Amino acid sequence: METLWKRFTHHIATRILTPEQFRRLLAPFGRSQYMRRYAASLIVARIQLISAFFAVVVPLWSIVDLLTFDSPIAWQLTALRCMSGLVFALLAWPRPLSGNNPYTQAIVMLLAMITVPSVFHLLSVIFLDPTDATEMQEVMMQFYVFIPIVVLGGLSIFPLTALEVVLLSLPVLATTLIGIYVDAETLPTKDIVLILWCMTMMTGIAVFSGMSQSHYMEGMVHRAMTDPLTGVATRRSGAEALKLLFHMSEISMHPLSVAFFDIDHFKHINDTYGHDVGDQVLQQAARRLRSLFRNSDTLVRWGGEEFLALLPNMPAHQLAVLIYRLKAGGLGKQPDGSPLTASIGIVETQTDRVSDWHALVELADRRMYVAKEQGRARAVLPGNIVLRLDPLDDYKNETGAVQPLEDPPVETTPT
Ligand code: GH3
Ligand code: MG
Ligand code: MG
Repeated sequence: METLWKRFTHHIATRILTPEQFRRLLAPFGRSQYMRRYAASLIVARIQLISAFFAVVVPLWSIVDLLTFDSPIAWQLTALRCMSGLVFALLAWPRPLSGNNPYTQAIVMLLAMITVPSVFHLLSVIFLDPTDATEMQEVMMQFYVFIPIVVLGGLSIFPLTALEVVLLSLPVLATTLIGIYVDAETLPTKDIVLILWCMTMMTGIAVFSGMSQSHYMEGMVHRAMTDPLTGVATRRSGAEALKLLFHMSEISMHPLSVAFFDIDHFKHINDTYGHDVGDQVLQQAARRLRSLFRNSDTLVRWGGEEFLALLPNMPAHQLAVLIYRLKAGGLGKQPDGSPLTASIGIVETQTDRVSDWHALVELADRRMYVAKEQGRARAVLPGNIVLRLDPLDDYKNETGAVQPLEDPPVETTPT
């Protein structure tokens, strides 16, 4: 059984998948927002390319219809073709990806793209009468019979999960079955069996291909998103996640906090113990930081020894708790056994009203520098509250656990 599973997943992904990885190829639930957005942009880009092609070819094919069929039917087909061409042109029209629901947008567009030829096929069945058809007309009618099969085959170019392919094939199957019902008297049983068989085969191929593409896409996105040294998000993917989270925080009015960590005296570790040891210290710090945060939080390697924690739904008044946890857990040890510390600047969208995510990071960075100036191993919170992080330090001592500061200088950018 296990060998069978290994063989099966190996054929889909060229490596053995865990049940969780395989489940993600069966249904789209549980995909990260970043992955959904990437899949959506890929699906929309392909829809636009295919639709642009059909927006030209479908109406042009009217010439063949006009030459093949007699007057009323030929014009009915032409009208249908022009309408289909219009829908394809609308789908191909360049438009930005929806900020909130890009994946829903992609699936709706895909549904529209496959519904157009399916409805065209059904209406052509209703319009065209196979009795007394000329040889050329018969050839054309045979041509139309294949439309649903081609549509289902076309699904295989999209990175879809198995469930999505099956659900998207249902409207195509429904219109085909209605067509078969309408044509029941003239359509030989062997043709009906052949059509349904081919449709099942095409759906199977699309399922297999969609799963393989989804897996390939997930791997590619994961590699592009993950910093190879520390295993946390790269700056690029972190910036995208932050942009999205900032936007969502603005619409939902839920607070978003961002913590900027810069490890203290890291250069000294490199200079004293070498770059490889420095790398190990960085890995350890990333592990420690990750264990501090919730699953919904994102840790980003923003620069060499700088990390950014994106904390959605984290209000300013809970940030002190986070710092206490950081103080308790620490960032690990330096090679000489002394505690590794960081200077931290923290911002929160509802207390620090800034215009965009760039300004949010800039403010967190400025607060981090204030923490450095104050003596390192400190966190500067919204309201310029400074919390000391030295692991042996007592928060209640006279150096002050909660020590309000002057505002850090705010740079104004010329407009
Ligand atoms: P402080 O922040 O407390 O002011 O001092 P620092 O010594 O940490 O200051 P700085 O930001 O100037 O030093 C960062 C160092 O991090 C410099 C760079 O050589 C090192 N670094 C950057 N990326 C990596 C990396 O991937 N691996 C290692 N080992 N070192 C790195
Ligand atoms: Mg630095
Ligand atoms: Mg540093």
